[in-house]
Amino acid sequence: MLKVLMVTSEANPFAKTGGLADVLGSLPGALNKQGVDARVIMPKYGTISPSLRERIQHKETIYVKISWMNQFCGIEQTECNGVTYYFIDNEHYFKRDGIYGFDDEAERFAFFCRAVLEAISHLDFIPDILHCNDWQTGMIPVLLEAQYRKRYIYENISTMFTIHNLRYQGEFSIPSFKNLFGLGNEYFTSDKLEFYGNASFLKGGLIYSHILTTVSNSYAEEIQDPFFGEGMDGLLRARRHSLHGIVNGIDYNEYNPQSDPFIAYNYNLEALEDKVKNKLALQEELNMPVNGDIPAIGLISRLVDQKGLDLIARVLDDIIGEDLQLYILGTGEHKYERMFQDAAYRYPGKVSANIRFDNGLAHKIYAASDLFLMPSLFEPCGLGQLISLRYGTLPIVRETGGLKDTVLSYNEDTGEGNGFSFTNYNAHDMLFTIKRALQVYKYKDLWSKLQETAIVGDYSWQYSAKKYIDLYSTLKGS
Ligand code: ADP
Repeated sequence: MLKVLMVTSEANPFAKTGGLADVLGSLPGALNKQGVDARVIMPKYGTISPSLRERIQHKETIYVKISWMNQFCGIEQTECNGVTYYFIDNEHYFKRDGIYGFDDEAERFAFFCRAVLEAISHLDFIPDILHCNDWQTGMIPVLLEAQYRKRYIYENISTMFTIHNLRYQGEFSIPSFKNLFGLGNEYFTSDKLEFYGNASFLKGGLIYSHILTTVSNSYAEEIQDPFFGEGMDGLLRARRHSLHGIVNGIDYNEYNPQSDPFIAYNYNLEALEDKVKNKLALQEELNMPVNGDIPAIGLISRLVDQKGLDLIARVLDDIIGEDLQLYILGTGEHKYERMFQDAAYRYPGKVSANIRFDNGLAHKIYAASDLFLMPSLFEPCGLGQLISLRYGTLPIVRETGGLKDTVLSYNEDTGEGNGFSFTNYNAHDMLFTIKRALQVYKYKDLWSKLQETAIVGDYSWQYSAKKYIDLYSTLKGS
C-alpha cells in the first residue's frame, strides 16, 4: 500500500485560516478511500479546540536541533474521520493565540521542518512520499537531500510539493537560514535557496522536490508568467515538466446543504425552494430587513489584496445602490475591514459586516445567499466558489486560476452556465457583471435552472484524489 505523509501548517478541524486547511482536512480521507495510507503531520497549536485537544495522545518525546539549541519535541497522534493526524508539540513555538504572524516565523517553521524529518523515524510509518504544502514546509525537501538522504530509513522517500499560494514565500535573511539549518554557503546560490539577496523556504521546496503541483490547471500555467509568478516564474518555467495542476475538491460531509448542522433549514435539489428559508433566518440573525425576494450577495474571504477587494472599494457605493443585501464575513487588512464596517454603518439594512472568523456563520451565508462574490486578482483554486455552487449559490468571479476552471459564466444563447464571470481586472466590468446577475435573478425559472446546474456539479475529491495517486505512483521508489 502506498504510504503518504502529508505535511501542513493547518488542517481542518484542528486549525484553519484558509483553503489549505480545507484541503488537508478532506484530501487525505479521499486518498484513503482509494486505497492509499495517507496521514497528516502538523504543529500542535494552542488554538486547537479543547474537545479535539483532549483526543490527542502523547506518543513520544524527542529533541530536535535548531541553531545551537536542542528543543523539546513531543510527537502526538489522533484519529479524525478515519485519518491519522500526527502533531509536533513544542509550547514555546506553537502554544500561542494564533497560527501565523509572529516575529519568529523563520525559527518556528524551521523547527517544524526539522522536527517532521526527525519524527519520521519514530512514527512506525515510513512514508514512500513526503507531500509538503506551502512555504512552511518548503525546507523539508532541502534538509532531506542535504542531511538525511544517506540515513537508512530516508533513502527511498520521494517528495512532492504543492503550491496552494505562491505569494507567501517564507523569505528570511541568509545568515538566519545558515544559523537555523546548519547549511553551508553552497546552498545559498541563485540556483538554490538564494532569492534577491535573501533565502526562501518556498524556493527550497520548488527546487528540491521531485514533483510540484498546484491546485488548478490555470494557476499551473499562470505562475509560469511574470505577472503571477511572484519572482519564481523563471524557476517554474524551468521545472514545467514536473509541475502539475490538480483542482481542489471540497469536503462533501462538511459542505452538504442536505445535512449541514449549522444552517437553519436543510435543503437539496428536490427541495430547492427551502433554500430561501435560510435567507430569512439569516436576515433575522443579522438584523436585516426580512425579505425573501431581495437578492442577497455573500462574500466570505481573507480581506487581502489578492481577493479583488480594491475592485469592490472602487464601486462599493454603486453596488449598494442596487436593490440587494450584502453579507460580508472576513478578517484581514485593516483598510478593508474598515471599508466594510463603514459601509454597514452608512447602509444599515443593506450591508452586514462581520469582521471575524466564524465557521458557523460562513455555512449560513453560503446557504442563505443567492450570489457569492469572488473577484480575485489571482486565485490558485478558490474554495468559496465551489462551496457556493454546492449550496446552489451562484458565484460571480473573475476569470483567473481555479475560478476560471470551475465557474462557467451563464451564456444567454445556449443557456449553459453555473455562475457569472468577467475577464479583465476592472471594477466596472465587475459592477456590470453583478448587475447582469441581478437581472437574471428576476427570471425565477431561469434562475432555478442555473441553481440546479450548480448543485448537481461534482466538486468532490473523487477525480482529483485519483490524479494525486497517479502522480504518487510515478514517484514511488524513484
Ligand atoms: P484562501 O485559501 O486564499 O483563503 P479559499 O477560497 O481557497 O481562499 O478558502 C477559504 C476558506 O476559508 C473557505 O472555506 C472559506 O469559507 C473560509 N473562510 C475565509 N474567511 C473566513 C471567515 N472569516 N470565517 C469563516 N470561514 C472563512
